[in-house]
Amino acid sequence: MLPHGRGCCPEPRKTQVVNTQNQVDVTVAALNRLARNLWWTWNQDAQDVFEELSPRAWRYLYHNAVAVLRELSDEELRVRLLDEEFNRRVQGVLRQFEAYLGATDTWAAVNASRLAKRPVAYFSAEFGFHETLPIAAGGLGMLAGDHAKSASDLGLGFIGISLFYREGYFQQAINAENWQTEYYSQLDPQNLPLEPVLGDDGQPLVCTVEIAAEPVSFRAWVANVGRCPVYLLDANLPTNQPHFRDLTQHVYGGDDSTRIMQEILLGAGGVRLLRRLGVEPSVYHMNEGHAAFLALELMRERIAEGAGFEAALAGVKQQCLFTTHTPVPAGHDRFSRELMDYGARHFYRQLGVSAGELMALGRVDPDDANETFCMTVLALKAARAANGVSELHGQISREMWHGLFPDGTVDEVPIGHVTNGIHLAGWMKGPVRKFWRRKLGQAEPAADWAMELAKPEFWARMEEASFVSDEELWALRYRLRRELIEFARRRLQDQEHRSEPSDFIAFDHLLNPAALTIGFARRFATYKRAPLVFDHFDKLVGLARDLQRPVQFVFAGKAHPRDDEGKRLIQKIIHMSRHSKLSGHLVFLENYDVHVARQMVSGCDVWLNNPRRPLEASGTSGMKATCHGCLNLSILDGWWREGYDGTNGFAIGGDEHPDSVDEQDRLDSENLYKVLSGELIPCFYDRDESGIPRAWIEKIRRAMVTLATQYDTTRMVREYTQKYYLPE
Ligand SMILES: *Cc1c(COP(=O)(O)O)cnc(C)c1O
Repeated sequence: MLPHGRGCCPEPRKTQVVNTQNQVDVTVAALNRLARNLWWTWNQDAQDVFEELSPRAWRYLYHNAVAVLRELSDEELRVRLLDEEFNRRVQGVLRQFEAYLGATDTWAAVNASRLAKRPVAYFSAEFGFHETLPIAAGGLGMLAGDHAKSASDLGLGFIGISLFYREGYFQQAINAENWQTEYYSQLDPQNLPLEPVLGDDGQPLVCTVEIAAEPVSFRAWVANVGRCPVYLLDANLPTNQPHFRDLTQHVYGGDDSTRIMQEILLGAGGVRLLRRLGVEPSVYHMNEGHAAFLALELMRERIAEGAGFEAALAGVKQQCLFTTHTPVPAGHDRFSRELMDYGARHFYRQLGVSAGELMALGRVDPDDANETFCMTVLALKAARAANGVSELHGQISREMWHGLFPDGTVDEVPIGHVTNGIHLAGWMKGPVRKFWRRKLGQAEPAADWAMELAKPEFWARMEEASFVSDEELWALRYRLRRELIEFARRRLQDQEHRSEPSDFIAFDHLLNPAALTIGFARRFATYKRAPLVFDHFDKLVGLARDLQRPVQFVFAGKAHPRDDEGKRLIQKIIHMSRHSKLSGHLVFLENYDVHVARQMVSGCDVWLNNPRRPLEASGTSGMKATCHGCLNLSILDGWWREGYDGTNGFAIGGDEHPDSVDEQDRLDSENLYKVLSGELIPCFYDRDESGIPRAWIEKIRRAMVTLATQYDTTRMVREYTQKYYLPE
């Protein structure tokens, strides 16, 4: 008998794919529907299908399923589906997708059914979902995107509201002076996993909101995040005046006046859209103060129905929740009286108050005419509950806002905390998804394999060598490190073509696939102290260039366009990477985004984080490292202060910090060098006779057991639901 039964007896009818014209039509339509639901960004089988359709388009169009489908003619797609094996896989993906969308046995069906009809409305100025839709500036947006994905996995009644930034967040290019320059590219909604929101007449639904005392029209696009819609408001309509059309051009674009107008569109416009869609949320969750104008719109509605100002505020307060995200003062929007008069004066009339009375709502001391209007203060006054994003950040926030609640002690300030997480399946790199799927023992996984991955029981098995061996884990580490290095070589080659074409660098030899690789990537805000590790430069060079125990560094990150100090730090690091004794042991990758982040958190052995404590409210990039076997090396700030247990990674310093910034910087850089040279490098290079670093791998196992599901957004969204969404 022939091995596959071919040419022998025909296979039973039922396993055959029937390629009727009709079935192909149905499949083509279903693939288009699939491409326009971001579910595929966390499903490996779906991504494999799109990649196989056009590997080159997949890569060059930046893993965009919608754009890949548009590359293929209708005829080509139909013919490709005649391949039975391929068609069978496509059907498998479509079955998973339908099962996911149709599931009725979700966590929320049992635990939060009340929210099904009256969902959570989650307002956020940014959402980060995938590299294909670059409308997030950083961690806040990534968190919002991961919140939506886990809300979907859990079956929660959840609707997101944000803005559609036509040119997204800036792209970073480094010029010949190693200086960051910014450029933007137009996003075409037709080519993105978005759908227009249409009215009953099949035309785009258009709503209106007052901004700067003028009516401004906007439409909306919906990003389908699994089961949850996220609506993106778009003011770029020909009927609007030019300065309003440009309102949604860039993430946090322009000056303070653009900012206040964007925030009115987000908050007040978002509520208007929900009304037009007939949605009656049970709670409004303000993700950061940017969204707080939603409270004024909700008050306007009540006042229009006859309520007084105080009663309206009290009523709205029952409906709103607020999450604050940073102790850094510049992270809290403040608007001057002049700016409020310009951008927000329609609220005075709508709420029936004087300018002074409205200003008071955004002040800690309502009577202090020198205080600006702070969006965080408005949000705190308009929310029934508020929270920070880690235990330490909750405490710091209570201290920061004690002035608003002077009657009690600091501990009585009503700000709690929910520690952030990440969407595990979404951040996992393809080969790692396949690795863990094999361990889950599923040939064709259930629709909810993302939920399987989020179970502590699964990661608890990492303690068992019979479940996953040291050898397998070490092989995975080598593979991921090589993939990062090859990615870095390609990227650096492209970068070099544009900046210093005369410099000859042998890219094929850049970075060492066997060397301990330390990654650092985040926004180049000064408090994150990107160059801290280079403070003890000569000693660090000694560590990096040790022939037996080499160490190398991969850096990435964007500075805010107006932050010259941040740009100088980037310049300094790139200069070092090219012209110092660290050259060959240090690279800087341009244009940090979701894709670069995924390459780095998977390929690095160590994820470095050294913020000035306690300014890192939570931090999330280090959470993305764990499932890939990358260990954290961090200051005990934000999430790591809770996550670190002595066995699952490395700590820089202890659970305290000096008050003086200079003293803190000096101490932290000293401690960083100490743990690197005394603890971390020896552990990584301590190999047994088969070349395996047993103690290092034990730390990887401990990290997986203790961190993977604890810092997952499944845990986080459940916690928000039980602590804040459900109690009325
Ligand atoms: C995860 C992530 C962040 C946030 O990282 P932090 O550790 O919180 O600074 C920012 N940008 C991108 C692209 C990310 O993937």
